[in-house]
This record gives sequence, C-alpha cells and structure tokens, in this order.
Amino acid sequence: MIDAHLHLRDARIEPYHARFVQEALAAGVSACIDCSARPEEWNVTVACALDVTTAFGLHPWYASVAYPDWPDFLRLALQADPGALIGEIGLDGLRRTADGGLAQRAALETQLALAARLGRPVVLHGARAWGALLHAVEPWAARLPALLFHGVSFAPDLLAHPVLRRRNVWFGVGGALLSPEARTLPRLAAALPLDRLVVETDAPDAFPSGGEPLVLGQYHALLNHPGNLPRIVRAVARLRDIPEPELAAIAEANTLAFLATR
Ligand SMILES: [Zn+2]
Repeated sequence: MIDAHLHLRDARIEPYHARFVQEALAAGVSACIDCSARPEEWNVTVACALDVTTAFGLHPWYASVAYPDWPDFLRLALQADPGALIGEIGLDGLRRTADGGLAQRAALETQLALAARLGRPVVLHGARAWGALLHAVEPWAARLPALLFHGVSFAPDLLAHPVLRRRNVWFGVGGALLSPEARTLPRLAAALPLDRLVVETDAPDAFPSGGEPLVLGQYHALLNHPGNLPRIVRAVARLRDIPEPELAAIAEANTLAFLATR
C-alpha cells in the first residue's frame, strides 16, 4: 500500500521516527508521498525503509509567517530533486488569519506558477476553502502535469466542477471518513471516480476515530501514524462494495499513475 499523504519531516514525530516507520511497514505500507509544510522542512532529509516521494511546499497555515525569500529556497530545493512534487500547498478555511487570507492566496499563486514552469505535479490542501481553491487553480490546471486534492471533504455535487473532471486530477481520502459524525465524506468517497481515488493518513495529523496513536503527543493531541492506513482502505472498500485487497490495489495503482505524470 502507498500512503498518498503524510509528513515524515514534521518535527513533532522526530523522537518517534523509527516507530512511525515500523508501524507503516507492519501494516503493509511500503511507500508514501512525504509532504512538507514550511521552509524549515525543506532541508531535512529522512532516511528510512519506506519508498519515499518527496514534496516541497509552503502550506497555507505558514504562508503569512515565512521569510519573504522563501520562493527562492523552494525553487532551489525543487531543482536539486528533479523527482520532487510541490506540496502541500493550497487554501485553508479552518484557521483565520489577520490578513484575510491574502498571504495564502499569494503563496498558492507563486507555487502554481513554479509548478507549471518546472513541470511538477502538485498536492493541494483545500479544507473549508474548496470553492476558492478551485477558482484559484482553474487557470493553471491545464498547465500542470497533475493535481492531487488531498483530504477531500467537499459536497459530492462539486465533482461536476470542470477542474475536478479533468484527467490530470486525483483525490485523496483520509481518516476523517472513520468519524462517526462524518456525513458528507462517505457520500463523496462513494461518488469519486474509482480510477482517481487514493488513500492517505496525513500522519502525524488527522488522527482517525478508532485508530492507534503513535504516542500521546504534545498538548495531549493524539499523533497519527501510517499504520492506520488499512482502516481507511477498509472503510472505503465497504462503501464501494469492493473487496479490501482489491481496493488497496486500485488505490496503489492510482497513486502510481499520479506519480508517473512527473
Ligand atoms: Zn498534510
């Protein structure tokens, strides 16, 4: 299995790194897309037994606090790693910023332009800002090799949007599906085109209901690990009425197809 979205370079898991990777391997997760969120993570190299595809990006949460010269560092990181993706980038409606989202919109635009120029696929975050994200991405979508919308949670009606009907678009379904309160996501996960669906933990974030914690983290938040991926595969398989191993194989093939656009 491939975990299509996690954060190996997140400082919170540094002391528990070996355990993070062991949990993945023990659960049958052998590969991952490792997203970064801020410039401090672009220099970090993680050696581990997983087959790692690296993504460099400035997450919308950090857009207003990054040093102004971050685009130069991002370009250099990407040029040093020709196989790297751009992510995690996007727009966020979960956390309000004093500038009304100005910095995150500018950071997204800068990174989409860079992705188009360097021919790199992008990994997109759009929590509670899906409409605005699609609006921002639309002018670039045809110029990018591929777009992976991670942690999707929008209303299934939005699948009719021209950007989301494109052949270079993929969708990441995560642990929010396991929440007993989830209403929209089960409907969306059942409606996504099956050849575009990938699975992800977003570990160490997005600790899933009923999942196994990595450790009891700072401020008593439960840190997630990629060994929880099979729970997500199981939930999607049930929703789609597909045997679990078959769904795992489909999601893996889809992730490889997304990565093959590089
Ligand atoms: Zn993430």
